[in-house]
Amino acid sequence: MLVNSAVITGKGADTAKGRSPQEVSQIRELLKARYDDLNAEYEEAVAENQRLRLVEIGDAAGDDQADSGSKTAERDAATSLLRTLLDRRTQAEIAMQRLDEGTYGNCESCHNPIPVERLEVFPSATTCVHCKANRERRAG
Ligand SMILES: [Zn+2]
Repeated sequence: MLVNSAVITGKGADTAKGRSPQEVSQIRELLKARYDDLNAEYEEAVAENQRLRLVEIGDAAGDDQADSGSKTAERDAATSLLRTLLDRRTQAEIAMQRLDEGTYGNCESCHNPIPVERLEVFPSATTCVHCKANRERRAG
């Protein structure tokens, strides 16, 4: 006689601790959307940067000192925006990798899964709201 072995125990979920597969794929969608947004913004910023450089080269001959100063400032701002976007894009990329490894989205302090709603607003959050509040209370 066969023993009924069809009862599946809680084992087998090798995703983030305590997180359902549905939630994991929800987070993946969030991170992917964020990555795509940042990627589009980055490409726009690259194009803008190139445009500024071309204007600068084209104008250089007739510039007085003040003019070229403000253009440098404009270009510096564009360059720093570029760096910021690249940074954020890299963070989104790393978050997706960590999600695949099952290490993304858990509180580094209490190790509970950080709620999806929080990750949606703060994708780079590394603590849950409770631990964050505790830390701030201690720090302040
Ligand atoms: Zn926590």
